[in-house]
Amino acid sequence: MSSRLAVIAGPTAVGKGTVVRHLLSTHPEIKLSVSATTREPRPGEIDGKDYFFWSQDRFDAAIANQELLEYATVHGLNRYGTPKAPVLAALARGEKIVLEIDIQGAMQVKRAMPEALTIFILPPSWEELVRRLSTRGTEDAAEQAKRLQTAVVELAAAEHFEHTVINDDVDKCANKVLQLIT
Ligand code: 5GP
Repeated sequence: MSSRLAVIAGPTAVGKGTVVRHLLSTHPEIKLSVSATTREPRPGEIDGKDYFFWSQDRFDAAIANQELLEYATVHGLNRYGTPKAPVLAALARGEKIVLEIDIQGAMQVKRAMPEALTIFILPPSWEELVRRLSTRGTEDAAEQAKRLQTAVVELAAAEHFEHTVINDDVDKCANKVLQLIT
């Protein structure tokens, strides 16, 4: 089945971001939804491109005004959400759009828009997931430990997704995702 809206989720550090970037670089006609978040920008991140960096008040207002297709608190820390209008606009233009969001958010999207295709990215093994998290160096030890705890719960959610794809090789994984959404 092909759907114009695809939701890609998976545990922390599984490499979803890399897979999605690879997919978009080879298929520029596929759009990526830009999420809003209350977390601080990391060095090099651009507001409006990587995320919309919102204050808590702005995020609260977006919830109250029903501007978000879904939202969740991720890793017990910051809030993330998908602005609804750009997704609906892309679908109205007949474009394919991909959401790279957390599992709670993915389930909310599926409920709101059952035609969405849900894809779960799996690591080749638990050991590999731990290795990827520790070698990417974006989180300190405490944050890594918290993310691994979340990952245990996250992996158990795979069964709620229509498709699972193992990320053992970025190229292969991106191709499988592409086959599912085209
Ligand atoms: P990071 O802070 O590393 O950029 O992202 C942390 C997590 O937030 C990622 O696992 C990502 O899937 C999730 N995330 C990013 N955007 C959204 C969103 O719009 N909604 C939800 N529910 N999760 C998101």
